[in-house]
This record gives sequence, structure tokens and C-alpha cells, in this order.
Amino acid sequence: MKILVQKYGGTSVGTIEKIQNVAKRIISNKKKGYKMVVVLSAMGDNTDKLLEMAYELSDNPPKREVDMLISTGEQVSISLLSMALNEAGYAAISLTGSQVGIKTVGNHMKSRIADIDDSTLRKHLKHDKIVIVAGFQGINENSDITTLGRGGSDTSAVAIASKLQCPCEIYTDVDGIYSLDPRVYPKAKKLDSISYEEMLEMASLGAGIMHGRAIEIGQKYNIPIYVASSMGDKQGTTIKESDKTMESTAITGLAIDNNDAMITLSYVPYSIKVTAEIFDRLANKDVNIDMISQTSPRDNTVNISFTVPTNELTEAKEVLSFFESKYPQIGLSINERITKLSVVGIGMRSQSGVAARIFVLLANADIEVDMVTTSEIKISYVINTQDQQLAVKTIAEEFNL
Ligand code: ADP
Ligand code: ASP
Ligand code: MG
Repeated sequence: MKILVQKYGGTSVGTIEKIQNVAKRIISNKKKGYKMVVVLSAMGDNTDKLLEMAYELSDNPPKREVDMLISTGEQVSISLLSMALNEAGYAAISLTGSQVGIKTVGNHMKSRIADIDDSTLRKHLKHDKIVIVAGFQGINENSDITTLGRGGSDTSAVAIASKLQCPCEIYTDVDGIYSLDPRVYPKAKKLDSISYEEMLEMASLGAGIMHGRAIEIGQKYNIPIYVASSMGDKQGTTIKESDKTMESTAITGLAIDNNDAMITLSYVPYSIKVTAEIFDRLANKDVNIDMISQTSPRDNTVNISFTVPTNELTEAKEVLSFFESKYPQIGLSINERITKLSVVGIGMRSQSGVAARIFVLLANADIEVDMVTTSEIKISYVINTQDQQLAVKTIAEEFNL
């Protein structure tokens, strides 16, 4: 059985006309002899609209109920696409995550796919039906509906393709993966291919084009992921195992994240016990810490800076006010106008001096850096958001991104 999994994102199914466009694309693959599994996102910004309603009612709605609500977005698009295909004379059936056997583990709103029982899928494919699956959702051990985190339909598609051991194509509103978000830097270059490793880093560092977990699964099961536009036939980008040519460039991509705030605690007693207590309490409140830096001790105190997601700032402030009262000399400052700019490339493994080159570029452009972290294939810099455009342009031009 020649099976193909295709996923269409929210913009690509945003209107009835667009759903008809998707139907035509599926029919053309069907005519080529493929058994089709199609994973959809909710129409347009429907998920945002559903979430807005939830937060109008409550600042802290029960997450189980939020999942119940936001999983409905995908049910609208899948049923409409199925109707469009049936209308065109092609047998299609829409299925929810639970109907298709997507079993998840973990917390509501950020569940992970543990397994897929593909018997229903295979049964319908055998009967030559086009199977349309609601992305982003699954069902947990309590039979509750769960969702996979924003952008999670990519993960549904790649997980299904991995289970069926077939190619996976992701169709979206850009014609492939660029070295950086073309909305931020319109001169960015489109990549023919990118390694799983690099794409995974880019996704976790803020490049919203793909859900990180989708890349993890693709890598684990070695399923190449082809990303292209849902309009037209322009060549897209393949996410796959790395090869020698990919290693020759120092930097493959640049990712921007504007969703973090930087917290600085000054005059913190120089004691690992105090540091541990601070981060332990933040962890207990489920605050995700990303970058951390600490100055060397002076007069037995240190300054500690770290970044947290802006939407977890309220919880972070609650914890920190406790320390302000416990250690009255501690000073607290919060900067919400920061950008985390990261460069990613497997070529960095063999090429040294990339960090230094970027420091020089930033220095020449008079851009101050608040924090830096490095790993084998990435370097992240925290800068002021007002310097973002200049920093992006400077680095992109130097590294030909
Ligand atoms: P979909 O709804 O189809 O899943 P998304 O909005 O999740 O689409 O992802 C597509 C968007 O990702 C593009 O419109 C683009 O602005 C953004 N994006 C971020 N980084 C990149 C990148 N490196 N290359 C291409 N697009 C990117
Ligand atoms: N509809 C969900 C979201 O907006 C899932 C997705 O689009 O991938 O996050
Ligand atoms: Mg997406």
C-alpha cells in the first residue's frame, strides 16, 4: 500500500475556498495512486478564539476543560474537508484523535503521544477511504481529550507517518523553511534541506514553523519531513538526517524568541543553598527557567539573572516576593523587552570562532549583550528588543543567511 500523510495548517484551511483547494490537492495525489491520510489544524485562528473565550471566563480555567474546548477547532475543519471530498465523489472519513487511537501521556495542554493504535486507520485505508484526522489532539489513560501544545498538529502528522512508515508532508503558508523567519527578515534564503538536529534546535529556540516534538519523532523513526506551501507547487524544504554538505556552513539558521523576560536579582547572599532555594521554589511553581547567569561574588553577594517565559511571570513574581521579604537586601528588576537571538548550525562542531565573530559584529553595531549560552550546535544571545532588527540584519548579511 503506497501511503502518504499530508498535514495542512490553520491558514491553509482558513476558509471554505481554502478547504476546497486542499481537497483538490488531495484528489490529485489520490489520482497518482496514494492512499491518503490527511491531518488538519483548526481553521485560521480558531484555536486563539476558543482560548480567548476560556480566559474571559477565568484566569485559570481547568486545563482538562480547556482541552475539551480547544480540541473542537480541529473537528470543524476535518468534517468540512471530508464533506468537500465526498461532494467531489471521493470517499472520505473524518476521525478525532481518540477515534484514530492517538494515546497520550502527560499534562493537559502539553501532552505527548505515547502510541497510536493504527488498526482503524488501516481499515479505512484498505477500504480506499481518504482518512482525515484531527491534529493536535489525543486521548489519555482516563479517556479524557488532551492536546499536544500549540502547533501540535505537525506532531500528529509525523507520529502517524512514523507509525505507518510512510512519507510525511507539511503544507503551510510559507514555501519552505528559511534560514530565519521571512516575516522578520524578508531577504532570508530558503533551505533545500535541514538536519533534524538543527530544526529541533530552531524549533525549541522560537522558530514557529514546526512543532519541536514532530522533529524528535521524525528523527527517531527516520521519517523525512517535507515542508512546503499549500498554494502552488514550489519546491519546499526536506528535514532529514544530516549529510556532509550541511556541515560545511557554520550557521544554517537564526531563531528569534520574544516570549521571555529577564529577571535580575542583585545582592543575593553568596550561598549555593540560597541559589538552590530560589530555583527550587520556581520549579515547584512550574516556572520554566531558560538561561541563567551569575556574577562572581563581591562582598559575599552575587547577582543572578535568568529568563522565564513572559506568561509565567506572575508565578515567578510570587516566588520572588517571598525572597525579597526573606532577604531584604535583595534587589529585583524585570526586563520584558528582551529578545533571545540564537544561531544554529551543525557546522559549528568543526568550525571555531563563530561566537567571537558575532561578538565583534554586535560590538561594531553598538549592541549590548545581556546573556550568552552555547551548546555544541547553537549560540544564544539575549539583547534588548530595540536592537533586534539591526542584530538580525548584521548577522544575516555576514553569514549569508
Ligand atoms: P501552520 O498554521 O501552517 O502550522 P505556522 O504559523 O505554525 O503555520 O508556521 C508558519 C509560519 O512560521 C510562517 O508564516 C513563518 O512566519 C513562521 N516561521 C518562523 N520561522 C520560520 C522559518 N525559519 N522559515 C519559515 N517560516 C518561519
Ligand atoms: N490548532 C492548534 C493551534 O493553533 C494546533 C496547530 O495548529 O497545529 O495551536
Ligand atoms: Mg504550525
